Amino acid sequence: NICISQDFDFFFFVQQWPGSLCDTKKSCCFPLTGKPASNFTIHGLWPNFNNGSYPSNCNIAQNPFNQSKITDLIPRAQTKWPSLSCSGGKKTENNNTSSDNTRFWKHEWDKHGTCSDSILDQHAYFEVSLNLKDRIDLLQILQNNGIKPDGSFYSVANITQAIKQAIGYGAGITCNTDPSGNRQLNEIALCVDKSASNFIECPILPKGTQSCIENVEFPIF
Ligand code: 5GP
Ligand code: 5GP
Repeated sequence: NICISQDFDFFFFVQQWPGSLCDTKKSCCFPLTGKPASNFTIHGLWPNFNNGSYPSNCNIAQNPFNQSKITDLIPRAQTKWPSLSCSGGKKTENNNTSSDNTRFWKHEWDKHGTCSDSILDQHAYFEVSLNLKDRIDLLQILQNNGIKPDGSFYSVANITQAIKQAIGYGAGITCNTDPSGNRQLNEIALCVDKSASNFIECPILPKGTQSCIENVEFPIF
């Protein structure tokens, strides 16, 4: 392949905990379809290098996000890949602000998806991500190990251990901070091989992994 930017080693498949996105100073917004279910949602599928760096915004000029290419996937994406960010949202009738799913999907495709588009075209990128989400039910795995989104604190080591036992591979946990300064479980990254078909052991963990401390809150959503 002559396009150097298409080169990468593996994917991070990153899921976010909506309760932690909302439990921040910035707060959050819901899509027009309403409050998402209390479950992890997709943040993105991110091509990455084994050395920790990653390509971004590779091919937006030639291959920009085009929602009409994923019309058939939109119902699934609305439930599994909603946006919870207020930026770019619109005022709703009752004067709340909504999030904008399309804007989030466009951001993820343009920034990350265009860097793997020699392997996954836009439709495949979204379909594969939705299928990966369906293959591993992180919330169920955690709940099976007594780790519940009930606002109490859990050890990051136990969270990681539960996932490793269930799927056979480690995971990278990242954290953020609630308005009273508590560190909380924000995102869980799993690693996927370059063909986007198999979970693998992570060659490295995502940059944000150091943001956690020993025990972190798992907020209610
Ligand atoms: P990243 O650059 O981390 O892949 O994506 C974050 C960007 O997507 C930010 O610009 C953020 O405002 C936007 N965004 C929209 N909805 C969401 C969401 O639900 N979660 C996150 N993490 N970012 C979102
Ligand atoms: P943050 O600064 O919130 O950790 O990350 C902001 C954005 O940078 C993420 O939404 C994602 O787009 C990108 N990003 C952060 N860490 C990594 C990483 O380790 N690998 C890749 N591929 N992207 C990352």
